[in-house]
Amino acid sequence: MSEKSIVYWASPWELMAFPNSAKNIITNNLVKTKFLLDKILDGFINTGDKVGVKVHVGERYNTRYLRHDYVREVVDAIKAKDGIPTLIETQNLGMDIQHINLSENYSINIMRRKTAAEHEKTAQLHGYSESIVGAPIKFIDGDKGLDGKIIEIDGIHLKEVSVGIGLYEFDKIVAISHFKGHQAAGFGGAMKQLGIGFLSKTGKYRSHFNSDMSINKKRCNISKCSQECIEACPVNAIKIESESAVIDPSICVCCTACLEKCPVKKAINRDFNMDFKNFIERVCDNCAAVINSYGPEKFRYINFAFDVVAQCDCVATPSMPIIPDLGIFGSSDPVAIDKACIDAETNAPGLPIMDQNGQWKEPTPIGIEKFNAINKMVDCSWVFDAAVKNRLGNLDYELIKI
Ligand code: SF4
Ligand code: SF4
Repeated sequence: MSEKSIVYWASPWELMAFPNSAKNIITNNLVKTKFLLDKILDGFINTGDKVGVKVHVGERYNTRYLRHDYVREVVDAIKAKDGIPTLIETQNLGMDIQHINLSENYSINIMRRKTAAEHEKTAQLHGYSESIVGAPIKFIDGDKGLDGKIIEIDGIHLKEVSVGIGLYEFDKIVAISHFKGHQAAGFGGAMKQLGIGFLSKTGKYRSHFNSDMSINKKRCNISKCSQECIEACPVNAIKIESESAVIDPSICVCCTACLEKCPVKKAINRDFNMDFKNFIERVCDNCAAVINSYGPEKFRYINFAFDVVAQCDCVATPSMPIIPDLGIFGSSDPVAIDKACIDAETNAPGLPIMDQNGQWKEPTPIGIEKFNAINKMVDCSWVFDAAVKNRLGNLDYELIKI
């Protein structure tokens, strides 16, 4: 692609609240969101279009996820154009809530985005409910995250990807992302939203792990369990043969529920992909599956670069913000919008961060890419290299300030 893609940008700068100042009103971030939506939704929505608004509602105890007020602006803008908005999401891997005892008298439950029942409660807790943002939420991979459509691709690593089947019920998609760092992907923006956020559990598993789920026959011991794995499996892929569990790989959908329930350590194998460059390339393969099977012209992207922390919203313990707020970005090109955000964070001053001993660390200077400076295991340039190989969009962009 040779022509530059357009990226609209609303700066985060707020004027002081002068009484009766119209200028103050128009610099409010929610109002800026509306102005940005006017640009990117212009001519995009037809009357009666079913519009999926892809969100990430944030993990329990995470306090840096994108606040629902911005989502409400997106929903209202779609309604103003006579579209019919629905928030869409997919389930996390596994099926179980994780219980953590923090002290004798205090415990918390986390990992509550794995089934529709728990995910919806987390969404409501974070304000992502119809009564607050004005649109219902739908899980496009079904109640348990197992409902995928297999899309064949010619990716760098992957040849098929399981995409949440409910995606294809919508006429248009507005993908909202909270721009921030990510432990394995370098950063989270529009491409991470596409390449993981639209997948079924099977698709997510194939991105994060190198082999199918299998039983370690040396460790599996049916005298030490109640065969919880069989009970946990939602597709009856496990049976007992010769005193050991066996997983039928032709039935297994890689949900990891058996692993969560098995009480015997290391009785079930899974091979986590620690090669983060390879992981990022798989995420970009997934992006190609989502975009090309649905239609690139039917997507719009908004990245909110507020509360830019070092980790994904899927963690319960996000860091302090590592840079100041960068504002709101909008585009029809997922590569251009993510590149504009990375360029902006590179050119921003880092913020001082307190380490775990309570000592302040020197901020990362202007001109240094911050996520890589903090997380040496991942290089954000890998994302753009893989995006170009997968022809996901344009690295060259024109930034237009709203
Ligand atoms: S995999 Fe675990 S739960 Fe299943 S039979 Fe073996 S030891 Fe028991
Ligand atoms: S065998 Fe496969 S489908 Fe069944 S619970 Fe385990 S990972 Fe899920």
